[in-house]
Amino acid sequence: MGKQYTKTDILYHISWISKFITHEILMKKYEKYPIHIYNSLSRQKELFTPLHTPNVGMYVCGPTVYNDVHLGNCRTFVSFDVIYRYLLHLGYKVRYVRNITDVGHLTESGEDKMATRARIEKIEPMEVAQKYTRRFHEIMSLMNTLPPSIEPSASGHIPEQIEMVQDILDNGLAYVANGSVYFDTQKYVENSGNYGELSGRIIEELFSETRVLKNQDEKRNPADFAIWMKADENHIMRWESPWSVGFPGWHLECSAMSTKYLGTTFDIHGGGADLKFPHHENEIAQNVGACNVEPANYWIHTNMLLMNGKKMSKSDGNTITPIQLMEGDSEHVSQGYDPMTIRFFFLQAHYSSTLDLSDAALQAASRGFRKLTAALKIARSIDPAGYTHSGDQELADKIKEYRDQCYREMSDDFNTAKTLAVLFEMAGILHELDNGQIKANNISAESIELLANTFISFMEDVLGLQQPEDSNGKIDDVMEILLDIRQKARAEKNWALSDQIRDQLAAVGIEIKDGKEGTSYTL
Ligand code: AMP
Ligand code: ZN
Repeated sequence: MGKQYTKTDILYHISWISKFITHEILMKKYEKYPIHIYNSLSRQKELFTPLHTPNVGMYVCGPTVYNDVHLGNCRTFVSFDVIYRYLLHLGYKVRYVRNITDVGHLTESGEDKMATRARIEKIEPMEVAQKYTRRFHEIMSLMNTLPPSIEPSASGHIPEQIEMVQDILDNGLAYVANGSVYFDTQKYVENSGNYGELSGRIIEELFSETRVLKNQDEKRNPADFAIWMKADENHIMRWESPWSVGFPGWHLECSAMSTKYLGTTFDIHGGGADLKFPHHENEIAQNVGACNVEPANYWIHTNMLLMNGKKMSKSDGNTITPIQLMEGDSEHVSQGYDPMTIRFFFLQAHYSSTLDLSDAALQAASRGFRKLTAALKIARSIDPAGYTHSGDQELADKIKEYRDQCYREMSDDFNTAKTLAVLFEMAGILHELDNGQIKANNISAESIELLANTFISFMEDVLGLQQPEDSNGKIDDVMEILLDIRQKARAEKNWALSDQIRDQLAAVGIEIKDGKEGTSYTL
């Protein structure tokens, strides 16, 4: 005989189930899909627990605005844009601070990079900063990155930096030498400061370094670094301070501005991996030196963009600007690429892996991205009202699993590469729906709505990938049709037709090229 349930048993179960259901509904997305972040400081993946949930404070080192950002910089800013978007998507209230470095970043010869550029362009350093900040914003907007909540500039925060130098001096962790102020690394280490922890540098090696640097003789120890520098007579960017007329050391701005806008300790600090040493190591020392606490709980470092196997960098010419790549104006590429294709190309790799930019890789990205944008169009055109409430259970389960997988992958240290792989699977279903391989009565209204909404929100809100703006995708579609016809003509050895298509396109400024990877075109 089966178990007999009393009225109390049943009531108990109903109340338990309803509590569970209510909890599920009321649960915030960030509770349902907790994030794990690879913390460069502990070198481990850790559960992300903000200091003041649902608020999250994130500081990212921004560009030095003495010339245009290159694509490597863009990769880093796109990576943090996706992190910012995903935190927002999960329901966090994020204060995202990304600075503008417009003072203190010196060339090898000790001149401020801004001043050097001002001299070359025969304009004021402030004009250089404004010009390249504006261009940086234009490029960021073409790449569809959201503006940060606060974008403070170093030159606008000189009093805060002077105050921080004073605090470090008051704590006995800096000394004045000939009008400049140096951070005393030896004292810091003696006071149990962890100098070298983030970058993995060995402190004894840093102390014994004998590089001949400017003003080296003023330092007590080769590892010491300037937090305030006395300006020589040629230095045009200068401010009054208690120690000299001078300017702040480059590392100081981030310590002062992150403290001002996010507090002495905040959640996430980010930047490119090349900033770990000395910039971030010195930032930590300064913050601890001034405020007695470590600045950030989680350090995120993005890996480098390479070009044809070598690090992309402004200084050695192995570089391409975003505009050059968009316009195809570089010896490194055969055609121009839409900013959304470039963004997609970045997101195909995890932020912590290096990524090698080459024409072939971009061509492949371009084809892949077109598949996704075609699916986006289908998803946007879906109207669940045309479907019933019944459908194939297996398909419904699969769609739910895809949704969960998107969250799992993004919550696993923001794995955009794996999220995109799931979106390709979903795109496959959308294409099958579109071409009739999946019939309308195989899928319920609820499932199709979940499929379309998940696909759109991960593509657009989380990854920031939109239909390319200029053509709304239509030129790509038309070109695909034309190239298809031309391909058939070539297969049938109908050279006259294939040449006619090529020549007539050339006459309207569209150049097509036949290569190993297939046929490509430049508008
Ligand atoms: P900068 O303007 O040189 O201070 O760099 C701005 C940001 O771009 C920093 O977070 C750098 O670490 C990052 N960055 C510089 N070069 C690359 C590169 N090749 N790939 C990825 N990020 C980079
Ligand atoms: Zn910084």
